[in-house]
Amino acid sequence: MATINDNYLKLKAGYLFPEIARRVNAFAQANPDAQIIRLGIGDVTEPLPDACRHAMIQAVHDLGDRTTFKGYGPEQGYVWLREKIAVHDFQARGAAIEADEIFISDGSKCDTGNILDIFGRNNIIAVTDPVYPVYVDTNVMAGNTGEANDKGEYGGLVYLPVTAENNFTAEIPQQKVDLIYLCFPNNPTGATATKEHLKDWVNYARSQGSIIFFDAAYEAFITDPELPHSIYEIEGARECAIEFRSFSKNAGFTGTRCALTVVPKTLTAKAADGSNIELWKLWNRRQSTKFNGVSYIVQRGAEAVYSEEGQAQIKALVSFYLENAQIIRQQLTSAGLKVYGGVNAPYVWVKTPAGLTSWEFFDKLLQTVNVVGTPGSGFGAAGEGYFRISAFNSRENVEVAMQRITEKFSINFP
Ligand SMILES: *Cc1c(COP(=O)(O)O)cnc(C)c1O
Repeated sequence: MATINDNYLKLKAGYLFPEIARRVNAFAQANPDAQIIRLGIGDVTEPLPDACRHAMIQAVHDLGDRTTFKGYGPEQGYVWLREKIAVHDFQARGAAIEADEIFISDGSKCDTGNILDIFGRNNIIAVTDPVYPVYVDTNVMAGNTGEANDKGEYGGLVYLPVTAENNFTAEIPQQKVDLIYLCFPNNPTGATATKEHLKDWVNYARSQGSIIFFDAAYEAFITDPELPHSIYEIEGARECAIEFRSFSKNAGFTGTRCALTVVPKTLTAKAADGSNIELWKLWNRRQSTKFNGVSYIVQRGAEAVYSEEGQAQIKALVSFYLENAQIIRQQLTSAGLKVYGGVNAPYVWVKTPAGLTSWEFFDKLLQTVNVVGTPGSGFGAAGEGYFRISAFNSRENVEVAMQRITEKFSINFP
């Protein structure tokens, strides 16, 4: 009889988004006239930049001509794309990353999970709480955790709480951890990290021989010139960090699929015999074996992000979402709510008023103003008492939702 990977049985059934859908559907059925506005989504809403679309159309034509046709591309991605990324996203910011340290992929979601392939099963792993659920669930699947307790915390993981009390930046752990997941600007809290905060992490990681997984999916939303976009802007990060980037949120590629992972050649970890092994070699081997590259068409689309028009268009796209975030911040504040994030990030993290739990606030918002957000507790126990509002939406939806909240939502609940 075939057997399964029993680790999958430890997974808490995808609870958050199905439960949101269940409550919204029940409400919609009971109130068929309600115009429900969904501000819970983590997906982009605006169309692909023209520059990317035109490049993809041209790429389709290339494939239609036998002299320019492309079959399998390099598993690591085309050199012309990797070089542009190295220059624009890293070297221009003083981060010494070379094109051959960049691996193109079809998503940061898969890469943040797949990266565990090249690490041992005995590492001590730290995640923030609240957290992007992919980091946790992929460790459960890989067998790196025990069972979940009733708060949804898995045995064996080190949870680093991030709340208003620590300004949404995790304290450096007292104990030794081997792998650390950091996400800045953060999903779900919208928090950012200063150079000093990242320096503390890099120093910790180097002193312990740990590896930082740095998820920079939202770096394009950084407007404050003092904030680092890449962990490699910090000295020593080439010796302790892997960075994940994506074209999903800056260029609207959530459905098109293109991302990248940076594995510096100077990064090593220990083999069972105690020798230091270059992680670049392992990731290169892993990708060459299990991955056959991102389509030529999509990589040409991603390349166009670095053209003059492309840069202007993605800037406009990001500014549009940031203006949404600004409207959300302003209106929620004037409705008497305490808000965080949403300045260098597309997420606004709201403190629930009057001691409501995240789910109580969810129900209240749905019932009184027909607006849907995401309960903070769904991202981890320390997210209880918070609520995520996404700026990924049309201007009209944001304005109507905020108008309803300022006009009809009372925080002085009976
Ligand atoms: C959206 C998002 C990504 C990007 O994932 P893709 O698979 O590249 O679309 C990565 N990390 C976080 C935290 C995200 O929210």
